[in-house]
Amino acid sequence: MKIAELFYSIQGEGSLIGVPSFFIRTSGCNLRCAWCDTPYASWRPEGVDLSLAQILDEVKAHRAMHVVVTGGEPMIAPEIAPLTSRLRDLGLHITIETAGTVFQPVACDLMSISPKLSNSTPAGSWAERHDALRIQPGVLGELMARYEYQLKFVIGKREDVEEARSLVKSLGANPARVILMPEGVDRDILRERGVWLAEICKEEGFRFSPRLHVELWGHRRGV
Ligand code: SF4
Repeated sequence: MKIAELFYSIQGEGSLIGVPSFFIRTSGCNLRCAWCDTPYASWRPEGVDLSLAQILDEVKAHRAMHVVVTGGEPMIAPEIAPLTSRLRDLGLHITIETAGTVFQPVACDLMSISPKLSNSTPAGSWAERHDALRIQPGVLGELMARYEYQLKFVIGKREDVEEARSLVKSLGANPARVILMPEGVDRDILRERGVWLAEICKEEGFRFSPRLHVELWGHRRGV
């Protein structure tokens, strides 16, 4: 499996924010978000091929009871299902961070789905392909039906909220499982956007998530 990085940190986003977790970041993505904060796993995928045994040895070398499988897009990794099955055998809580464009029968305790809004579409040659793929209602519905889920939206401007609200409605999602998060990898921008986004969350009944890892460590790899 091509792995961009393995590291032990705390979950920086979403409903399990603050929980010590071991992160497995697969390399490779079927989307190309304009604001992608892990281009080394999408636009210019880097990494090394590791066997499942090598990955599991790293997991076992740390104290985490939670593991987060992220990317890139982990659901396109060929061995994602056996990997999650082996993680479950270890008794770990498994979160999968996905854009929700591909279904795989994985073992998962929290399906953290981040559908990509139109603010993610890049300029250039990837635009059409990205736009055609970024929202897959059938896949989103199946993931939400089969797993405990959260829907996490990256919000850059107020108008993005309307798009998120419309998708939430069409999917019949529970607003309590919807999380809005400011877009950005700069503490000042996150704070500025966070102030008005928190007010919107209060009005809509959505949950607000900061990006705690950026606040604590800045925009760095492996944290
Ligand atoms: S889906 Fe995630 S990893 Fe892929 S390009 Fe978008 S932000 Fe980056």
